[in-house]
Amino acid sequence: MSENDVKPNKELLLDPFGTTIVKDYERLYKEFGIQPFKPLLQRIKNPFMAMRRGVIFGHRDFEKIIDCMENGKEFAVLSGIKPTGEFHLGTLMTAKEIIYFQKQGAQTFYCVADIEAYEDNKIPFEKSEKYAVGNIADVLALGLDPKNAYIYRQSKENRVKDLAIIFGRAATLATMKAIYGERHIGLYLSALIQVGDILLPQLPDFGGPKPTVVPVGVDQDPHLRFSRDIAQRFRRKYGFELPSATYHKIIKGLDGSPKMSKRSPMSYFTLDEKLEVIANKISNAFTGGRPTVKEQREQGGVPEICPVYEIDMFHFVEDDDEVKKTYYDCRTGKLLCGEHKKRTIEHVLNFVREHRKKREKYIDKAREILGIG
Ligand code: SF4
Repeated sequence: MSENDVKPNKELLLDPFGTTIVKDYERLYKEFGIQPFKPLLQRIKNPFMAMRRGVIFGHRDFEKIIDCMENGKEFAVLSGIKPTGEFHLGTLMTAKEIIYFQKQGAQTFYCVADIEAYEDNKIPFEKSEKYAVGNIADVLALGLDPKNAYIYRQSKENRVKDLAIIFGRAATLATMKAIYGERHIGLYLSALIQVGDILLPQLPDFGGPKPTVVPVGVDQDPHLRFSRDIAQRFRRKYGFELPSATYHKIIKGLDGSPKMSKRSPMSYFTLDEKLEVIANKISNAFTGGRPTVKEQREQGGVPEICPVYEIDMFHFVEDDDEVKKTYYDCRTGKLLCGEHKKRTIEHVLNFVREHRKKREKYIDKAREILGIG
């Protein structure tokens, strides 16, 4: 059975073009063939924070990448951003992942998915250009080394578009519907282009076939399944290695919804929002706390359903022991939500202030990389 024979389950559908709500990550192992990440952890010398904390919970073929990291073999990392707005906590996670793999020695590719932004979000190219400059300045400020990375826009990278045309011969309408549901042709085209992105590092111009890891949110898995199928079909011609992937969990919305969404402004914040607005959103966030202080002290809170806890754990608290202590203190009623929110606001605002100073310095560099005057 091919990975794409997995029947999309309406309740659980992983949809890169829609809303993905995962209630039970364990089910993804059974129903989509994603492998659990935890058993690999002991083999990774210097695991990324999100790996250690189970935020990266799944993978496909990541053993190949561990082998490369252990033995100094060549490998690549590719991920990117859809330039539909300013950096938020979802794009921040992918950016940190790619920087981690770059530091582990990966040949690094960062793609600005402007074709997808056009097809999926109706963002005209002139507008996505502006977002792209800011997004690239963000990723440089976070630590991506541009000297050792290939950063490009899909719409300007002919090799990616050529691959999409070639791969189109191997994709029937039935395949596209099985993976992505019924969509307009532009989205199917953009999916083929994503496959071109994922296999770009393996072209002779970049040193030929090699293990490639694609770190993404789990909603992007259909692109990975499709890419692996295409890589298999074109293996004889190009010698492709099947791409590997790591999957991170989707961070909850601040309003308690399963996902941060542009449709509900109180569910997320971007790194360019006013500091008071960010503070206000966190201050008003849903929590796993009890209705009264007395109940919280007696019964403890529920960090598992709490977005404030997730903000700390996914991003803003570096020390694992501090995260564990927060969990324990919440569970045992030592920590109250007001106190915790105050602390989290401080962490977030400190990060944002520092980040903005660095980002400002990279705007011109980002323009230069993207060829935007
Ligand atoms: S104490 Fe913190 S982790 Fe616990 S429910 Fe309240 S805000 Fe969430």
